[in-house]
Amino acid sequence: MIDLHTHSLFSDGVLVPSELVRRAFMKGYEVIAITDHGDASNLDFIIPRVTAACRELGKRWKIRALPGIELTHIPPETFGALTKKARKLGAMIVVAHGETLVEPVEPPVVSPPQPLSGARSVIAAPMSATRAANALTILDMCPPSR
Ligand SMILES: [Zn+2]
Repeated sequence: MIDLHTHSLFSDGVLVPSELVRRAFMKGYEVIAITDHGDASNLDFIIPRVTAACRELGKRWKIRALPGIELTHIPPETFGALTKKARKLGAMIVVAHGETLVEPVEPPVVSPPQPLSGARSVIAAPMSATRAANALTILDMCPPSR
């Protein structure tokens, strides 16, 4: 099993990264990405810490823990620059926060997002006009390297 969208207490999760990864490992997950909510204010706080935890845990347990970030409620035109910053800080996966019906949302996007320049692989799913609750778009992801 693989989960590329989880949250630790660095955003709205309740577990430290070690406990989150350990619980995933005990449930049989092979890969987990820790993708806490981030914006321009906290990428440099979250990503290095999660990266350090993932690096250490990956040496000890047979689970691949990927450091990532979920860019959340940022102006759409800043996704590219913040994705680049996140990658420089060590994020192996960058996802975009989906909007839920209880959050303030922008009008529906009718055109699909454009691929980011320099992205190694992009699995960008266009947002539908009726954005599903908790929809998630993977903006950028490194191939696994070990
Ligand atoms: Zn999320």
